[in-house]
Amino acid sequence: MKDNGFDLLVIGAGMAGCTATARAATQGMSVCLVDVAADVGGSARYAGYVWTMPDHEVMAEQNPDGDPVLRRRLVDGFGPAVDWLRVLGADVGPAQRILSYGRGHRLDTNHYVDLCRKILQDFGGEILLGADTEELTMSGDAVVGAVVRTADGAAREIRAEHTLIATGGFQADPELRARCLHPSARTIALRSNPNSRGDGHRLATAAGAAFGTAGAGFYGHLIPSEISFSDADYVELALYYSEHALLFNLDNKRFTDESLADHLTTMELLEQPEARGLLIGDARVHRDWMTTAYVEGAIAPDKFALASKRGGRVGVAESLDELKYLPEEWGYDGSVIAAEIESYNASVRDGSPSVPRALDALPLDEPPYYVVETVPAVTFPFVGIRTDANARVTAESGDPIPGLLAAGSDTGGLWHRAYGGGLATALVFGLAAADTAASAGLPRDA
Ligand SMILES: Cc1cc2nc3c(=O)[nH]c(=O)nc-3n(C[C@H](O)[C@H](O)[C@H](O)COP(=O)(O)OP(=O)(O)OC[C@H]3O[C@@H](n4cnc5c(N)ncnc54)[C@H](O)[C@@H]3O)c2cc1C
Repeated sequence: MKDNGFDLLVIGAGMAGCTATARAATQGMSVCLVDVAADVGGSARYAGYVWTMPDHEVMAEQNPDGDPVLRRRLVDGFGPAVDWLRVLGADVGPAQRILSYGRGHRLDTNHYVDLCRKILQDFGGEILLGADTEELTMSGDAVVGAVVRTADGAAREIRAEHTLIATGGFQADPELRARCLHPSARTIALRSNPNSRGDGHRLATAAGAAFGTAGAGFYGHLIPSEISFSDADYVELALYYSEHALLFNLDNKRFTDESLADHLTTMELLEQPEARGLLIGDARVHRDWMTTAYVEGAIAPDKFALASKRGGRVGVAESLDELKYLPEEWGYDGSVIAAEIESYNASVRDGSPSVPRALDALPLDEPPYYVVETVPAVTFPFVGIRTDANARVTAESGDPIPGLLAAGSDTGGLWHRAYGGGLATALVFGLAAADTAASAGLPRDA
């Protein structure tokens, strides 16, 4: 530890923060790790697969509007990051395909974040849980630490050569959701740890950080409407199978290519009337997708049965004609939707659907029909603190703010209405942050 503080202060002990902490500690740096929660882990504790795009071509194809510098760093950094996980002793599975375009590994994230905490303790670092960060400490235009309110209520000024912001995004703040994602996002369900309330955003922008990019969207999944949704449901009740079903808005129309990805459809649904829609699959979709694993090796509950058991708006129609009996209060016209499905079936048979269908362009013609009303739930935003490839926070000018780093779901620019792994993003840029701190020159005068 330096006379005047730590080499690295990490605010947020989730995937990015734990990663940076373990990397920095094993490189001999003094580290203080702060989390507002009573335990480390954040949203990482819910996650199970560390993955991203396999190469630059797929990254460019899937995420054309993402920052090219950050995209390149993620793809290039992923292999070495997985090697680092293995060397550290994390429980990492063999390489496997993830979704239709990604590649990655199963990762025991609970074991991993606990391992990172142990490494910090073994190397003599400090960990403050239940501690809130009030403000960053500035010296001129440089960040030299932060004022932290510790669990006992005392304010403590922590000095550090580098401060890493890794609070996991602003998805738990309804105001920021409404302002930065979409007005309808104010009331949507949260599918993440409850503490990512935009503190990183507030701390970094107060220090002059750029924020963006507008319109980038968010990562989330469709869930059944009208249910009380809690963290026990985050995986089981995410309707990943939507990629194989058809989704109708309150105008009784398809509005997006559902087959591309459930997380893309989730963003599109947010912008539809009342941000809700009717998801319809037939017996084939039920058999092949609603009741099977989304990612190889993952749990495979019957999503339809679960949504029904939990009191969602669900129903089974023995024929398309029976869709006319949809409850009136739901607000859809079942006869119009039945006609839309007939027309969709005819159009995919002759290869010309009016709303495109890139994958799984098969008719829904095997009764019965499984109907679930669905709404979006948010896991983390793609809008966030702007950084460079070395996790240095940048100002509007593009220049780095001395002493300030950010990684993980607090950052923006990498993903733009596209998604290729939240754990990988936090892992690769968490490592980059620690490496930047390690390779910094002589200590600044503070
Ligand atoms: C159900 C679910 C399943 C998922 N599955 C996957 C998956 O399989 N693969 C994948 O790639 N991604 C997955 N993700 C996303 C992944 O978990 C996140 O992208 C990743 O954890 C982001 O890391 P992070 O460090 O930025 O944020 P987090 O891991 O969420 O950590 C943020 C931390 O910051 C803390 N914090 C907040 N405010 C403050 C403050 N003011 N001061 C101090 N600390 C603060 C929080 O308490 C938390 O501990 C999943 C997410 C969820 C919710």
